[in-house]
Amino acid sequence: MKRELGIARCGLACCLCSENVTCSGCHSGECPDKQWCENLNCSQSRNLDHCYNCSEDCKKGLLKKIKPYAFAQFVKRYGENELLDCLERNEKNGIVYHREGIKGDYDDFDQVEELIEFIKTGQR
Ligand code: SF4
Ligand code: SF4
Repeated sequence: MKRELGIARCGLACCLCSENVTCSGCHSGECPDKQWCENLNCSQSRNLDHCYNCSEDCKKGLLKKIKPYAFAQFVKRYGENELLDCLERNEKNGIVYHREGIKGDYDDFDQVEELIEFIKTGQR
């Protein structure tokens, strides 16, 4: 885990992203998707550094997907440091963020609250 890369604007975990060998994270300007990313463009236009700092309960762009949405909800409740602590502990316990391509152990969920519980406990 590259903890210093933190969490992307949308809520994805740059610190655990398999692309983070060549991309230094959402705030580096190196993300291959920066031209079309709705969350990057929208949050910049609102002078917000992350969607988790936005007052809207929004499902634009990547927030349509359960992983960034639940991660952003987690940060709204408990803070980014707590999310990074949980991700770090879970990684040490064998939970894989990107197992195949961009899918991993945090993607196999339908319910936001179940995913938030999994982040907290590492158990399902
Ligand atoms: S590709 Fe996207 S999620 Fe991955 S490290 Fe770069 S900005 Fe973060
Ligand atoms: S409106 Fe949605 S995309 Fe825009 S900053 Fe807020 S949460 Fe992010």
